[in-house]
Parts: sequence; structure tokens; C-alpha cells
Amino acid sequence: MTYQNYSLKQLQQIDAAHHLHPFTDHKELRAAGSRVITHARGPYIYDSEGFELLDGMAGLWCVNVGYGREELAEAAYEQMKELPYYNSFFKCSTPTPVLLAKKLAEIAPPSVNQVFFGSSGSEANDTALRLVRHYWALEGKPEKNRIISRRNAYHGSTVAGTSLGGMEAMHKQLGGAVPNIVHVMMPYAYELALPGESDHEFGLRAARAVEEAILEAGADKVAAFIGEPIMGAGGVKIPPMSYWPEVERICRKYDVLLMLDEVITGYGRTGEWFAAQTFEVTPDTMTTAKALTSGYQPLSALLVGDRIAATLTEKGGEFAHGYTYSGHPVACAVALKNLEIIEREGLVERVKTDTGPYFAQALRERVAGHGLVGETRSVGLMGAIEIVKDKATRERFEGDGRAAVVVRDHAIENGVMMRATGDTMILSPPLIWTRETIDLACERIVRALDLAE
Ligand code: PLP
Repeated sequence: MTYQNYSLKQLQQIDAAHHLHPFTDHKELRAAGSRVITHARGPYIYDSEGFELLDGMAGLWCVNVGYGREELAEAAYEQMKELPYYNSFFKCSTPTPVLLAKKLAEIAPPSVNQVFFGSSGSEANDTALRLVRHYWALEGKPEKNRIISRRNAYHGSTVAGTSLGGMEAMHKQLGGAVPNIVHVMMPYAYELALPGESDHEFGLRAARAVEEAILEAGADKVAAFIGEPIMGAGGVKIPPMSYWPEVERICRKYDVLLMLDEVITGYGRTGEWFAAQTFEVTPDTMTTAKALTSGYQPLSALLVGDRIAATLTEKGGEFAHGYTYSGHPVACAVALKNLEIIEREGLVERVKTDTGPYFAQALRERVAGHGLVGETRSVGLMGAIEIVKDKATRERFEGDGRAAVVVRDHAIENGVMMRATGDTMILSPPLIWTRETIDLACERIVRALDLAE
């Protein structure tokens, strides 16, 4: 690899001169210089100086089968030799997206059987937004086009993704969102539950915010509700178990479609193939990406429920939407192999019955008691550590999340890659983590908390 001819300093200079990074303050980046990650194996990533880090984020919530899987490289290589690219437009198809769509229909909830491919979660959410509006237009109700989402949701960075999302900082820079999208409260009990309100009651109240938004607009104007089953980038906000079934009941009552964004939660993270199964809800659309290929190739899959699919085929008319790389044969070949590995190694079951419960217990027993920690929470291998100034009152530190950034930096120095978002430290490791890896991560996190105290 040619990068080995460059020193870290040289790479950092070239990076600063030519490379714009996502979600980055370039003034700060220029001052600090990037950490350059050069290789990875199993649960570990390594930087250009040979420093080893446990990857507590599976890249960006995606490398579920861990690093260095030669089978995935071989699947890509074989497919590239056979057919590197052909599209699925104009009544053509290639074998791997066909077989992948069949596989996804098998592991999705029973009434979800059709798949539209893209290259990223953002693209998939663009597709989902356009598809549900197209659906209502085909049903003769084009005015039923409003989408209800939630504050602090993350649905991607395209204009549609940002509009669907509820991130204030992103909206401020948008200069005009896609019209007819409204945002309601998020189901985050730790911050929003009323004194004396149980988690169960809070979940029902948060769901009723969806009903209020439907009633305010009029049900004949509302196309769908969209939500991440567990808010990821917004800080691993886990709703009470009462929330999703109530949201589903409300959506059905008012004939509003239910769209789940499973870009993070899909493909085993919660201990089921999809969080829809964890929370026992049946969506009309499911956006997935990331762990579909474990990040080895860019690929997204919008899974579409039978109700929408039936209207598309029965009413006909072109859905005027698609991407050059929809159903990319190489990405789909890698996804098929990735799902085969997840199944062969029983990773979903392992998260459900072993590592998921162990992870929750380790966070609770070893991390939650720390003076800087307000609460820990997790589902499967997706967890959060809430940083507070005062455990009893839940008072936060001043400085808009700076405290969590300090903990994160200590965590990295101590060999575990984590993310800080607001006052929340996030963990979303590869599903290959064992009890021993969890022990090691907790040890390093507690050391980081001690250093930050
Ligand atoms: N939806 C959710 C829930 C996400 O977490 C993300 C990315 O983190 C996206 C959508 C956007 O995916 P992408 O970055 O692949 O466009």
C-alpha cells in the first residue's frame, strides 16, 4: 500500500490540504490532525503508529462481523471478475440482488417481502419518503403526505434525510427542509419522564404525542410516522417497551403508515435480526444499511411491506426513482456472504442469550456506579453511558457535551474507541465481542471515567 511511504505528519498535511471530513469542524481538525487508521483485525483497529484500539463502535455501527473477513473480500473479488456492474433498471436484473432480496424477505417480519436497494442509509430514507407519498397518491389520496418524525432523530444527511431527522444543528444549515414533515417528542424517559411517572406510563405518553400530531393535522393529511426503534446518533435512546406497540396501534387506528429506520438496529444488533422483532411491531417500511454488509461495501436495503408492494403492482405506473448503484452486484454478493457468516456463527442468538445480557450487566455493575455516570442502558450490543455532574439531581455539566468528549478522549487513549454525542457515551461494538472483550472494554472505560473525574 502506498500510504506506507508517507509519514503520519505528511498524511495529516495532505489530509488537511485536500480532504473534507463529514461532521467535522475543519479549523479544529487542522489544529489537531487526524488519527489515521490503517488496518484492523477481528475486534481491533490500529492506527498508523501501531496503536491498538478495541473498536467499541464497529466503525460507525456497521462492522458487525468484525474486521479481516477474507470470505467477504473473496465474495467481492469473485463477483467483480464475473460481473462487476450491471443495473436493475429497464427490466434487467442481476443474480445477487435477486437472491439477497429473497434472503431479506426470509429474515424480515412475515408481511415484509419486497426490497429496494441503494448505497446508503440516507438514500434509503429518501426512497422511503418518496415511496410512501407515491403510495398514497396511487391510492387516490395525494394530500395524505405529511410525515411525523421525532426531535433528535437521525435519518441521514441528504436533504430528505436531514428533513426527516430532528437534529437542530443540521436543520439550521439546511436552508429549507422538505415540506410537510413535523417532529414530536422522543421517548427518552431519563430526561423527559415526569416525577412519579413509570417507564410504562411515560412510553404511552410519548406515543400519544404521535396521536396528537395526527389529530392536529387531520388523519387524512398524514402519510406516515417514521422512527428509529432505538435512537442511535441521538444518544442510544431506548424507548420503554410500552412505546412501540402503542405507536403501532395509533398508526393503524388512523390509517397512517409505520416506517422504521433500522439502519443501526438491523442485522443482529438488538439480539434479533431486526429491532421490529425485539419491540414486536410490524412496519410498512424498514430502512436498513450498514451491517447489511458489515460495512465491507456500501449498500442499503429499503424493505417494503406487502400493503405498499401490492398497491405498486396492482395500480402500476412508474415509481420514478432509482440510483445507478441500486442492487449493485458486488455489494449484494458481499451482503449475502455477510448474512451467511452471521447465521453460521450464530451471532444474533449469541447477542440475545449471552453477550447482550452480559453487556447490560457489566455496564450496570461496573460502570453505572461511577460518580460521573447518571445511568447506563443497553439493548443487545448497543449501549449508552450518560455523563452527569450530579447523579442524584441528574444535573448536566455545562459546555454542551464537552464532558463526554473528555471521557471519550480518555477512552481512546486507554484503548477503546467510543463516540460522544451530547452528554452520552455510546457503544455499538462488533457482534463478535465475547464476554472477555466486554470485560476489557469496561475496565478501560472505568479508567477513562476515573481520569476525567
Ligand atoms: N438512519 C440512521 C438511523 C442512521 O443512524 C444513519 C447513519 O448513521 C442513517 C440513517 C444514514 O445512513 P448513511 O450514513 O449510510 O447515509
